Amino acid sequence: MIGYSGVMGIWDLLFPARCLGCQRIGEYLCAECVNTIQEIREPICAVCGKNSIGGQTHSRCAKPWGMDGLVASFNHRGVGRKLVTAYKYQMVADARKTLGELIISLAALEYLPQRAWELAAVPLHSRRERWRGFNQSLLIAQQVAAATGWGLIDPLVRVRQTKTQQGLSRKARLSNIQGAFALREGGRLNNKHVLLVDDVWTTGATMRECAKVLKRAGAQTVWGLAAARPEGIKKV
Ligand SMILES: [Zn+2]
Ligand SMILES: [Zn+2]
Repeated sequence: MIGYSGVMGIWDLLFPARCLGCQRIGEYLCAECVNTIQEIREPICAVCGKNSIGGQTHSRCAKPWGMDGLVASFNHRGVGRKLVTAYKYQMVADARKTLGELIISLAALEYLPQRAWELAAVPLHSRRERWRGFNQSLLIAQQVAAATGWGLIDPLVRVRQTKTQQGLSRKARLSNIQGAFALREGGRLNNKHVLLVDDVWTTGATMRECAKVLKRAGAQTVWGLAAARPEGIKKV
């Protein structure tokens, strides 16, 4: 009988782990390449995309159903970008650092105001999650919850399967994502402080749409936590 480890052994021989950054054989992410991942030090406003102290939404940008703030851990470039992509397709199950660990080790969480946060992952559509086998944002949220002791809730469902946001214009992204999320049955959020988790922040259309649903369900505060975002984007 060929056991699981026997199969893995053959797999490892045929496809040895290679570093995502430098292609060296040995591990999926070597120590040197981890160090090239750039930490984000200048938080931006979740509405206008311009710099904002601590990631807090500017008072002029704040809306009743809008996000209250945003933090992101590292730049979505180079090795950081490759790690996010590989994670999405579960190619780096044993990478030196997972996205959750990177978030925990970098400064993003320190920018957050002190609250009794409840982490909530941006959901995938059930069909896509079945196909992929997992939701990468939920894995991140679970790791952050375990490290911080914050709660983990699952208030949202994706009711509409959307096209990938990649390559769409700002306007097309907005109409693509509108109405894509709904509140899970019985999921009232009275006065909760929700920290929405996603792997990548690009234009923020997805998180802003989730925030709208959460605020309408009674959430007091909604901040976003993204593992990565491209730094230098001024306009969302
Ligand atoms: Zn490397
Ligand atoms: Zn703003």
